[in-house]
Amino acid sequence: MQVGAASDIGRVRGRNEDALLVDDDHNFFVVADGLGGHPAGDVASRTAVETLDRHLDDLSRGDPADALVSALRAADDAIRSEAATDQRRAGMATTAVVARVTDGGEEAWVAHVGDSRAYLVREADLRRITRDHTTGGLFGRGSITQALGTGDGIDPDVTHIDLVPGDRLLLCTDGLTDMVPEDAIAKIAAAPDDPQAACQRLVDAANERGGVDNITVIVVEV
Ligand code: CA
Repeated sequence: MQVGAASDIGRVRGRNEDALLVDDDHNFFVVADGLGGHPAGDVASRTAVETLDRHLDDLSRGDPADALVSALRAADDAIRSEAATDQRRAGMATTAVVARVTDGGEEAWVAHVGDSRAYLVREADLRRITRDHTTGGLFGRGSITQALGTGDGIDPDVTHIDLVPGDRLLLCTDGLTDMVPEDAIAKIAAAPDDPQAACQRLVDAANERGGVDNITVIVVEV
């Protein structure tokens, strides 16, 4: 398994409120996007990643889908506890998309809350695995309907995928997908560059198109 990861502040924002986790030992990967308009988005995304990191051993036990949901619920709780300790953090929230891949790279489980996405890159094809938790709308993007830390509870979606050798999983924040059309993402993600080079090229593509938000990507090749 080969993994690349990159997180970039972009060209407009004053700080990077995205966070990521790459754990090669557990084949566990996370991208989180602290919500704009909420205070302390960076603390929320970091707390999510740290909490998920602490639950890695639990993830190896029991049903993988249930384990991912439990870990996301733990992160949701941790963010709310953290927010309760400091007025300036009240209401902080974050998206999260998490993927766990089996040791041999045959299967993956992907769970998410919010509008950070996972894609499967197979040959030249880009297939979206996640469905954004946003209010729909033909014109412009809707608002996020669930996130970690809001206090409204979470209902993560979990998808199981059978992988074939050469498949890539792409996890990313909306700083990529709002800037770069999916056909352009597909071209870069499916190019023969190694996963780290692919991540850097995706970040560059978002910045070339304006980079109005933080950009975070992980590419896992099995
Ligand atoms: Ca974002």
